[in-house]
Amino acid sequence: ATAAMIERRDALLGPAYRLMYEHPLHIVRGEGVWLIDPEGRRYLDVYNNVASLGHCHPAVTEAICRQVQTLATNTRYLHNTILELAERLLATVPETELAHLMLTCTGSEANDVAYRIAQVRTGGTGVIVTETAYHGFTDAVSKFSPSLGVTVDLGAHVRLVPAPRLYHAEGADLCERFTRDVEVAIADLQRHGIKPAALIVDSLFTSDGILPEPAGLLKGAVEAIKRAGGIFIADEVQPGFGRTGEHMWGFQRHGVIPDIVTLGKPMGNGQPIAGLLATAEVLAEFGKNSRYFNTFAGNTVSCAAALAVLDTIEKEGLVQHAARVGKILREGIAALADRHEAIGDVRGAGMFVAVELVADRTTRAPDRELTTRVVNLMRDKGVLLSACAMGHNVLKIRPPLVLTAEQAGMVIETLDAALTEAQS
Ligand code: PMP
Repeated sequence: ATAAMIERRDALLGPAYRLMYEHPLHIVRGEGVWLIDPEGRRYLDVYNNVASLGHCHPAVTEAICRQVQTLATNTRYLHNTILELAERLLATVPETELAHLMLTCTGSEANDVAYRIAQVRTGGTGVIVTETAYHGFTDAVSKFSPSLGVTVDLGAHVRLVPAPRLYHAEGADLCERFTRDVEVAIADLQRHGIKPAALIVDSLFTSDGILPEPAGLLKGAVEAIKRAGGIFIADEVQPGFGRTGEHMWGFQRHGVIPDIVTLGKPMGNGQPIAGLLATAEVLAEFGKNSRYFNTFAGNTVSCAAALAVLDTIEKEGLVQHAARVGKILREGIAALADRHEAIGDVRGAGMFVAVELVADRTTRAPDRELTTRVVNLMRDKGVLLSACAMGHNVLKIRPPLVLTAEQAGMVIETLDAALTEAQS
């Protein structure tokens, strides 16, 4: 049945879509941390950081149903849900001067608008991102998303800096190195007559391989871009909404103050909603000349979902929970390294865990094939995750924030079994 469905999908949707796993998964229902296939088999979903409160969380489902039965409309009219959402989100960043919320439907759009704001604000076009970053799919943003690889050319106005790969940089002062690399990138833009507009960073360096350390890394780089007349855009599409387990936002781990913060993914627990927070200063000029409108962005239903997400994170203490269970998960996996030579490094923050698999612990050479085998074996054993990074050898584990300690134990045991089987 799955084979027929894949064939039908390919015929109907064309060649641009990809499916995960050697045996692609057909799912019909989601429930908390579980995804369920047509035969009723349950899969522990530690891949999906969109349904961050768990699939079909009742508080979000109820808020959506209530709102959809009352009013589904957009920002052409005055309505309260968007104002409440703005107040709630802005209250999470008291240490900054972020003053306004603009909504979009996707993270790509959020970064696209942020980049346009940066250009108007600075009069420049230059962008600095990390070497394997992903910031989205629009035409402008894909030009500074090197992880898209061969499909898109980077812009002449784009400079890449190495991500802080601590595991491969023993003894180096990564804060100093990152600052210097950003300074060199700025100078190179200027030498080519390109004015720097923005440094855009996902503070967990998700597609670079999940690189949480050292905290404080971004300080010097942010100072450098501001000195050069550019702005700092914190892309919180991945690290945001409590995932790091320490703060609501990933940039807070680095003690830096963004001019713009972009949001997405878990914001509506599956309902399409994304956006940005910006300071009054960066928005002033853009606001004068632009009439921002986005038909579905800021619609009442998505805003109601986002409000329920914020309520639930607070009521269930999910940021602290993510820190506690995330630590259990990390330590449990790290303990497997005694038995599995292939585990080179285990790192992460909160409910975002990376396991780097290597062919050789001395050279730390990536083992891409083993990683792919482990991802597929885990799926067959009922745990869903994926891989990332330049060498495609980093297991990416992003459970819903509500994962229990017992379920973390299942992930650890299944990984143990998959690693054993993959190498036998
Ligand atoms: N920024 C980051 C860091 C992301 O990981 C992604 C999506 N993976 C995006 C932006 C783009 O978000 P979307 O897919 O909602 O357009």
